[in-house]
Amino acid sequence: QKARIGVTGLAVMGRNLARNLARHGHPVAVHNRTSARTKALVEEFGGEGTFLPAETPERFVESLERPRRLVVMVKAGGPTDAVIDEFAPLLEPGDMIVDGGNANFADTRRREADLRERGIHFVGTGISGGEEGALHGPSIMPGGSAESYEALGPLLEDISAKVDGTPCCVHVGPDGAGHFVKMVHNGIEYADMQLIAESYDLLRHAAGLAPAEIAEVFRTWNTGRLESYLIEITAEVLAHTDASTGRPFVDVVLDQAEQKGTGRWTVQTALDLGVPVGGIAEAVFARSVSGHAALREAARGLPGPSRTAVADSGFADAVEKALYASKIVAYAQGFHEIQAGSAEYGWNIDLGAMATIWRGGCIIRARFLDRIRAAYEADPETPTLLTDDHFAEAVGDAQDAWREVVATAARLGVPAPGFSTALAYYDSLRADRLPAALTQGQRDFFGAHTYRRTDRDGSFHTLWGGDRTEVGA
Ligand code: NDP
Repeated sequence: QKARIGVTGLAVMGRNLARNLARHGHPVAVHNRTSARTKALVEEFGGEGTFLPAETPERFVESLERPRRLVVMVKAGGPTDAVIDEFAPLLEPGDMIVDGGNANFADTRRREADLRERGIHFVGTGISGGEEGALHGPSIMPGGSAESYEALGPLLEDISAKVDGTPCCVHVGPDGAGHFVKMVHNGIEYADMQLIAESYDLLRHAAGLAPAEIAEVFRTWNTGRLESYLIEITAEVLAHTDASTGRPFVDVVLDQAEQKGTGRWTVQTALDLGVPVGGIAEAVFARSVSGHAALREAARGLPGPSRTAVADSGFADAVEKALYASKIVAYAQGFHEIQAGSAEYGWNIDLGAMATIWRGGCIIRARFLDRIRAAYEADPETPTLLTDDHFAEAVGDAQDAWREVVATAARLGVPAPGFSTALAYYDSLRADRLPAALTQGQRDFFGAHTYRRTDRDGSFHTLWGGDRTEVGA
């Protein structure tokens, strides 16, 4: 018997993905550099389906039906290249290598081009949802050729999460498109988490609520338009009590956030593409600030306002509105980045389909994504989600509360970089005039960089050092 698909790299993700495939009735070949992992998988979970364990790459490749579908789930970066170098010579034209790791999309583009020359399809695939997702149904974002999707799509859709019967898996676009979208997904996840963290901080330090009370607030929010996995687990974390001290869990955790790098990539890529993603950038920076222990220690005594709790009983509702509005902005920015990447690399990504496949199986799964899907259905070419009828109305309704929350945060000295940048972005987009005109004047003054005028075509320069007449450039 041959396997329909194979998985090499059997740490948490690969093991669970292989189990998911086997549980869906697909005979799966399994391989790992260290064969102890392969043995352990078959010993522990062999009863869940048909596993074909292989000790060597050669045996692994031999056990796959043709065209071969080979999923690589190893550490991203050098290890992925090492595994490709090891397996590619054993494959034949038409075979497929699926990289399900968190690869940088630029690496995926390079690998795809290399392997294409050898007749092998390289399918860079974003897989979200962590180990639980991999086992029970992740959100899957495959890139690569349309031809490879014909052979892989049905399998991947079969093991993906389903929402309303729709698989959370779709062909994203050629070469690096899948890993690009996965990267931005992670960036949006950073922004979403940061906004939730700021909401908590404000409820705690501006409204004076205790963690358990804030957990209740999040539970209530989770029954409304903010309903999402992240809001749900926020309530769980805040309600948790540390067993050894009896204190709220959130008070005994060191307040230094870590990151693996996909948020940083999202921002670096946005800078290259010239796309403003302040919400994601502030989220990455907020984690960075939190981790600078010595810097924070040195600055700890700097003066700030006294924190008198706001007495307004409607404050939690105002924070909910600020959170919803800021979230809309962060997602609008992330989708703008996908739109820009798609245009830059000719991927032709269906933005509404991305919202659709994030509705299940991944960390940012939320009711809200249905709204985004609907917005792109209504206008696939919309330059920003903010002008969609539903979102424009929601932000319009929220804006007074949003401004009040940002003002309160500033007045009380509670840092709210995510809320603030989202509001500034909103106000920048809707402004009639921006002070960029002054910036252009300064640039022309010190560097003769020239400027354009509102009333005439062409580029101009003012002779700032001379008689200040204007000349055409
Ligand atoms: P790890 O990222 O910890 O990688 C461990 C696996 O990589 C092991 O199977 C290991 O083999 C193998 N490996 C490392 N170096 C080499 C090498 N040079 N040659 C061959 N094999 C090598 O595993 P995870 O399961 O956590 O993640 C797998 C991939 O999925 C990563 O790219 C990760 O970024 C991505 N991912 C992870 C998620 C998660 O929640 N963990 C979520 C989504 C994606 P050995 O046993 O021999 O050491």
